[in-house]
Amino acid sequence: MFKKKKGLLTVLLLAMLSVLVLSACGSKDSSGDQSKESGKNALEAIKEKDKIVFGVKNDTRLFGLKDPKTGNIEGFDIDIAKEIAKIILGDESKAEFKEVTSKTRIPLLQKGDIDAIVATMTITEERKKEVDFSDVYFEAGQALLVKKGSPIKSIDDIKKGTKVLAVKGSTSAVNIREKAPDATVLEFENYAEAFTALKAGQGDTLTTDNAILYGMVDEDPNYQVVGDIFTDEPYGIAVKKDSPELVQAINDALKELKDNGKYDELYKKWIKTSN
Ligand code: GLU
Repeated sequence: MFKKKKGLLTVLLLAMLSVLVLSACGSKDSSGDQSKESGKNALEAIKEKDKIVFGVKNDTRLFGLKDPKTGNIEGFDIDIAKEIAKIILGDESKAEFKEVTSKTRIPLLQKGDIDAIVATMTITEERKKEVDFSDVYFEAGQALLVKKGSPIKSIDDIKKGTKVLAVKGSTSAVNIREKAPDATVLEFENYAEAFTALKAGQGDTLTTDNAILYGMVDEDPNYQVVGDIFTDEPYGIAVKKDSPELVQAINDALKELKDNGKYDELYKKWIKTSN
């Protein structure tokens, strides 16, 4: 009798356990991404909704900068995104833009708020664990920005106590600690805040990709980029992991833009290489 009861209890417990496990497996993933459930891949989902939501910078001159008067966002990344939308969906107006920072871009992609990141984002092995990248569409390298007349002329001049400004979630903040371990690194939410801090004298130098620093020089010629680049920062367009069709479509579009001269045209339009 006792034995029978125990057996029944075990069966009951096992049944409850399997219901729990099954319901956990079947629950929606936290990204709110419907496409996987409906069996559509990321590219098909984009085609069905007939728009691509790109995560872009809003405070990075030359790449993604919002004009407060018009509300328009402009830059190399923006134009590349529009051209990709034109090739994939037939019209550049089908590119929609949402602001990201270096810190928020991957979480926003994972959550399904954006379909792709075109935001001065370096392809790294670390990031490849979380997202998939397109082919390289721009080559930058990390450098230093200082006020003209600064004693800092290169990374070798960063000594103990030198205050270096960087942005949270950027490769620059990680690399500088490695290349100049004596530096005091102060991290900001975005590039607008970091540059404002440099101008306010809160730091001796600001570090990020040379291409972004040239945009700051463009804004205020009292500042200059010094020294050689000390890292390679190949930019890629990031999409959610396991979206090979979307990566392929983006790579095909990038190739088309390179082949038809549009890429060179946009490069010349935006990229400054000297100051
Ligand atoms: N390219 C570097 C990175 O992806 C620095 C620029 C940025 O913060 O977006 O981290």
